[in-house]
Amino acid sequence: HNNSVIPRQRHRVTTKGSNVPECAETFEALRDRYQLSSHLMLNLSKNGYSYPTGIQSYGAPILLQGRDLAAISPTGTGKTISYLLPTFVSLRAPVASAETDAGLGVRAIILAPTRELAHQIYNECLKLAQGRKWRVVLFSKATANTFSDKAVRDKIDIIVSTPLRLVASLQSGSLSLSNVRHLIFDEADRMLDNEFLPQIEEIVAACTHPDVQKAVFSATLPANAEKIALDMLRDPIRVVVGLKDT
Ligand code: ADP
Ligand code: MG
Repeated sequence: HNNSVIPRQRHRVTTKGSNVPECAETFEALRDRYQLSSHLMLNLSKNGYSYPTGIQSYGAPILLQGRDLAAISPTGTGKTISYLLPTFVSLRAPVASAETDAGLGVRAIILAPTRELAHQIYNECLKLAQGRKWRVVLFSKATANTFSDKAVRDKIDIIVSTPLRLVASLQSGSLSLSNVRHLIFDEADRMLDNEFLPQIEEIVAACTHPDVQKAVFSATLPANAEKIALDMLRDPIRVVVGLKDT
């Protein structure tokens, strides 16, 4: 387990946007406000996550309020959990369980620029999913065939993928994104550029649910990427985490 995460006290956080929700200093505060399950709380503590990092304490409430978000926070500050935790809370229960009537089809998509990054995100997903029958799928050449069966596909909760791999599944007609409620772009500076733009636009267009929430996360957001992000996001809140004395 990597303990290199930087303590919250060293973060300087600025926010911009309308009606920014109050940050949550602790996971217990988040639980009290947004009904985090005891199972999620246990998974956080089991994995050594005692206190939220800066981006987690600011970003998670924004996502849990259903707002779009552009988050800029340095490498190693826990961006992954800042969007995965709200995603698991919002999905409430695995689609295959009797506890949700969320409809069929994947409800959350996490995009990352490389297969290696997608794999790291997938591993963080598994930490939060422990103990419940969540179906989290890391899209790859191998899994693309496994999930060509519609009955199997309809029971997926979360897909982690690169844009290219996801677009390949869309173009083969084997995947519908019409029930997606959460679309996350991680390491967005490496995806929101002119090279990836056609794929990003195809994915965004395929997420036809009117309530789809979008969020971008990055360590830096160059002007061009920021413009693409702001065109895509709806009344977003922007959070910038800096490191003090650096
Ligand atoms: P980033 O995406 O910002 O570079 P990561 O999400 O990869 O950061 O997290 C960096 C490391 O910090 C990972 O090993 C992760 O497990 C750990 N981590 C994340 N959140 C916490 C937390 N609240 N407390 C302790 N460690 C954490
Ligand atoms: Mg990251």
